Amino acid sequence: MSPEQGAVLLCYHCGNKTFMDLINNHRLVNSDDISDNYVNVQYSVEFVRNWYTYACKVCGEITLKREEWFSEDTHHDGRPILKSQIVYPQVTNKESNMPNGVFEAFEAAIKVRHLDGAICVLSLRRALERMCNDKGATQRNLYRKLKFLADSKILPPILDEMAYILKQLGNAAAHADDVTFDEHLVSSMIEFTQMILDYVYNMPEKLKSVQKLMGVVEGRVID
Ligand SMILES: [Zn+2]
Repeated sequence: MSPEQGAVLLCYHCGNKTFMDLINNHRLVNSDDISDNYVNVQYSVEFVRNWYTYACKVCGEITLKREEWFSEDTHHDGRPILKSQIVYPQVTNKESNMPNGVFEAFEAAIKVRHLDGAICVLSLRRALERMCNDKGATQRNLYRKLKFLADSKILPPILDEMAYILKQLGNAAAHADDVTFDEHLVSSMIEFTQMILDYVYNMPEKLKSVQKLMGVVEGRVID
């Protein structure tokens, strides 16, 4: 299915995976001429960004997807590496190094956010637990695992505190305690989890790509 008509996407508003109509598309190309006096070559580089706005047929809400590629950032066969990301509604980046189990638990939480707040929080907790395991935490419970990540400086102290709140709420959900999981609380927990996952998985990658871009601008390559 070409993006001109639409695409089958998971709607992060209602949780349905459905065909969505493409209602708008915006493309922006930045190009720059590079000259390397040392080897006496001139060439141009392109940074392309494409935004697609889709409308969900089930709930009517809007999803905004961004695709981008940089002509110098290529696969072995020379094709540019395409990076694709849902930028609205809020969802974490699947294209990063995040292991599948972690992303799937996060995605499961999004799918039930409007159906069952307690199950949503449990799934967020599962995503964190898997993140801890992936980062080498072998402690016997989530709190100790998170503490290990904070002590190892994989998590900064403020995110560690957020994760602790999530852990407490997850416990309450698991033991059917009398906690009201209202939409605002659930949304905040999703936001916290996303920040933690972005910090652990996406920020290092973003830093690397900025360093790579700087290397190109300065006429040198950083591996
Ligand atoms: Zn929807």
